[in-house]
Amino acid sequence: MTLGIISAMSEELEILLGAMEVESKNERANMTFYKGKLWGQEVVSVVCGIGKVNAAICAQILISEYNVSKVINVGVAGGVDKNIFPGDVVIANNLVQYDMDTTAFGDPFGQIPRLDTFDFKCDDELVKLAEEACKENSDIKSMTGRIVTGDQFVASVDKVKWLETEFNAAACEMEGASIAHVCYLNSVPFVVIRSISDNANNGAHMDFAEFTAIGVKNSTAILKSMVEKM
Ligand code: SAH
Repeated sequence: MTLGIISAMSEELEILLGAMEVESKNERANMTFYKGKLWGQEVVSVVCGIGKVNAAICAQILISEYNVSKVINVGVAGGVDKNIFPGDVVIANNLVQYDMDTTAFGDPFGQIPRLDTFDFKCDDELVKLAEEACKENSDIKSMTGRIVTGDQFVASVDKVKWLETEFNAAACEMEGASIAHVCYLNSVPFVVIRSISDNANNGAHMDFAEFTAIGVKNSTAILKSMVEKM
C-alpha cells in the first residue's frame, strides 16, 4: 500500500516532510514528488501548487506514475459553516466544484455536465480513520461535512453565504474537489482533511496570514494519528 499525500502550498507540507524518511525525490510537471516512509507507511508526498489544474495534474501523476493506492489531500481552508473557526479541522465526506456552472442548461451550480455524479464521495474507511484521529486529538475541534472547491480565494460575506445556502458547505478551498474528481475517474479511494485558516469573509486574507501555521499544525496532527492507524 502506498499512500499519496498532496498539499497545495509548501508550508502545508513542511512539518510532514520534516518527519519523513525520504528515499527518492523526482520532478514531474514542475512538482517535486518525495517517496519514502512516514509514520510507518510507504508514502509519496508532494506540493501541487494552488488551484484546481495544478491539483488535478498532481493527483493523476500520483496515480499513473506512482501507483498510489489511496490519496489524502491535507491543508488549510476557509470556514463556511457558522460553527467553524480558525484552527478547527474539517474532514470532507464529499466535495463539489462550486465554480462549475452550466445553469443555463438547467443544471444545478456545481454539476459537472455529463458526469454521473454531483458530488465526489470520500472513502468511508478513510473518513472513519480521520474521525477516529480527531477523537484522539480532542484538543482540536473538528467536524465532518462537505468541502467545496473553486479557483477563487473566497473573501466576501455574500459569497460565503451563497456557499452555505447553495451547497451546505462546511469549508471552501481551491484544490480538494479536483483531486477528488481525478480519484473518482481512476477509482482510487481518497479523503480531504483541512484545517481552517480564515472564515472566507472580508478579512480572510489577513486571517489566512495569521492562522495558516496553526491550521497546518492541527491538520498534520490529525493526519499523523490517522496514518499511524493504517
Ligand atoms: N497569495 C496567497 C494565495 C493563497 S490561496 C499565497 O500564495 O499564500 C489560499 C490557499 O489556501 C489555497 O490553496 C486554498 O486551498 C486554501 N484556502 C484557505 N482559505 C481559503 C479561502 N477563504 N478561499 C479559498 N481557498 C482558501
